[in-house]
Amino acid sequence: MFFFDAHLDLAWNAIEWNRDLTRTCHELRKVEKDRGLTFKARCANTVTLPDLRQGKVGIVIGTLLARVVQEQSNPSFCRYDHMEAAQAAAMGQLAWYAAMERRGDFRWIKGKADLEASISDWSAASHEGKTPIGMILSMEGADPVLDPSELPMWFEKGLRIIGPAHYGVSPYAHGTATIGGLFSKGPDLLKNMEKLGIILDVTHLADQAFDEAMSLYQGPVLASHHNCRALVDDQRQLSDDQIRRLIERGAVIGAAMDTWMLVPGWKRGTTTVESTGVGLRHVADHIDHICQLAGNVRHVGIGSDLDGGFGLEQSPGDLDTIADLSKLCEILRQRGYSQIDLEAIAHGNWIRFFRQNLA
Ligand SMILES: [Zn+2]
Repeated sequence: MFFFDAHLDLAWNAIEWNRDLTRTCHELRKVEKDRGLTFKARCANTVTLPDLRQGKVGIVIGTLLARVVQEQSNPSFCRYDHMEAAQAAAMGQLAWYAAMERRGDFRWIKGKADLEASISDWSAASHEGKTPIGMILSMEGADPVLDPSELPMWFEKGLRIIGPAHYGVSPYAHGTATIGGLFSKGPDLLKNMEKLGIILDVTHLADQAFDEAMSLYQGPVLASHHNCRALVDDQRQLSDDQIRRLIERGAVIGAAMDTWMLVPGWKRGTTTVESTGVGLRHVADHIDHICQLAGNVRHVGIGSDLDGGFGLEQSPGDLDTIADLSKLCEILRQRGYSQIDLEAIAHGNWIRFFRQNLA
């Protein structure tokens, strides 16, 4: 059984963190240790290409992540003072995906034929060590898009999904930890996305922006990396009402593995994995909550966000690298999920979604 992970900031790690993702996680931890890097998520990464392959994570959504400066900026992460710089950074990340595709590490999924090829790569009973990882390109925070009229150019380059906002406000919408709706160019962004068949990712939209986007945009929607507000109360999470509305639209919601979204009361830099005992069973709780609301297993998948600005210090304690995703299936199996259910959660739901909705 293979896995589909709907949210990984691969190029951002490769470029902003200067991580050679062709090496194993353990090798990279040593490299960063030898360089004396001390930021909390250093020497503690969990995602590289060999580890993805080892864990049979065969298809991923890879992001372009390049934001303009906001008040909420964490100075540890690169942010840009103007949108043109954000665009240039995103183009650099795009060039990284292209270079890795030429190496044979990725199969860039731009249409349905690529998707089917990747599914058959990873459905094979045995596959070689260098099977390309299927990659669908997404943009987290639309800051690199200078104007909605640019979208055909981005589509042409292979972009298939956009989440209009990230943490703080983007030029198009209010995002996580802010209150408000779309900005003046937000509706045009959504209209042009719908026209081109670019999928809307609602993750990180503030509540009002979520409402406005869901009513303005009539194309396919997903929530790439998003957990449940009923279990961990924060505006970054989906309320039960939002989950029901996503289910009505045929969306799939990816379970995220950043520990502050898994257990209540997490304080970054203070709370620890050890003090909370946070583990993959908490990811299973969020998955189960969505399945109970839906009355089926069809609307949940994985969107781990591992290495999305955090490392082992903020990841489930029973996960050393992304190759450990299979442990999540064991936990769900013990809770009564059948093999068919597990395949739906591991990859089947995302595959159904993209078979239906990839332009
Ligand atoms: Zn995110």
